[in-house]
Amino acid sequence: MEPGLSVQYDGRKNYVLQQEVYTYSIGALACEYARLTPFALREIVLSCKYRKSKVTRHFIVQSLEEIRIACMERFGPVVSVLLVAELFDTIRKLTELSKTESERYFEDFNREVSKDSIRDYILSEEKCKLFSMDTVGDIFNYAYYVFSVNYLVFKASFLEVMKAIEAEHGADIEVDERILHTFFSMYGECFEWQKIDYKVMNIDGKFASVFTIQNSISLLLFEIAHLIESGTTINKCKNCGYFFVPENRSDTIYCSYRAPQNKEKTCQEIGAQVTRREKEKTDFFTREYRKAYMRLQMKIRRNPSRGDRRVMLEQMVKEAKVVRRRVKAGEMNQEEWENWLQKFC
Ligand SMILES: [Zn+2]
Repeated sequence: MEPGLSVQYDGRKNYVLQQEVYTYSIGALACEYARLTPFALREIVLSCKYRKSKVTRHFIVQSLEEIRIACMERFGPVVSVLLVAELFDTIRKLTELSKTESERYFEDFNREVSKDSIRDYILSEEKCKLFSMDTVGDIFNYAYYVFSVNYLVFKASFLEVMKAIEAEHGADIEVDERILHTFFSMYGECFEWQKIDYKVMNIDGKFASVFTIQNSISLLLFEIAHLIESGTTINKCKNCGYFFVPENRSDTIYCSYRAPQNKEKTCQEIGAQVTRREKEKTDFFTREYRKAYMRLQMKIRRNPSRGDRRVMLEQMVKEAKVVRRRVKAGEMNQEEWENWLQKFC
């Protein structure tokens, strides 16, 4: 079987088949993959043990395994498996070339990418700013470059499809029709871009459809088709800003990935804290406001001839609506709303 992300899909869930089985909702594979910034992989790719070695099958396989394990820990199964599959595919194609062919290839390629910012980033630590396949490190630099470019195509398409879905739900967003057109053409005339292998397998005594997704864009094609078919909701996390598939309630606003500001907590946990703190703040405001309101009411009752106080009370009630909203949103601190309240004492 071709290397790639093996997914058993039963129409409701995706089961990623690795040493263990990981269950994902429809759309959640693409959402997890879209959380990656390919630059975050540099440290892992550049720290491979055999970088300085000559290119041999053994060192390539060892390095791929090293990358897979490091990525699994940091980014989970989707990123680690797809990254390794793409690196492997690129390296395999290179090693099929003869020496003359590969030299000619890199000569052209280096000329083509001489002003490319991704190239600059990947080769910034290298003395020689050219791609080649002289050492294991060189070959991985090149494969990492190819992966990054492919990943950026995935990400741009993913974001555009998300925008198109939001626009469909009435959001005022402009979508890039060209990107969408290119993407959706891969379901039609450009279907050969799809690198998805299909096998029928007997798993625990039952026949199952197992798809092996071999590159980034194929993952998106696989997921978007099922997303549209199933009408799955995708939300944007209010804490980290990444898209996610809500597990239970479709109005969930926080994802369950690790929060960027505190890796020990999930966005959901951070979200619950924020909500609690907001509530505490508004509760305190409400108590103080009520006291001030009652005091003013008492004054009016004691001295009904003072019409100015009635006007004041009306004003207070009117302004309080705006103030409460601003306190809740964290736009007004305690000192500010206390000053506001002072006006009516
Ligand atoms: Zn989040």
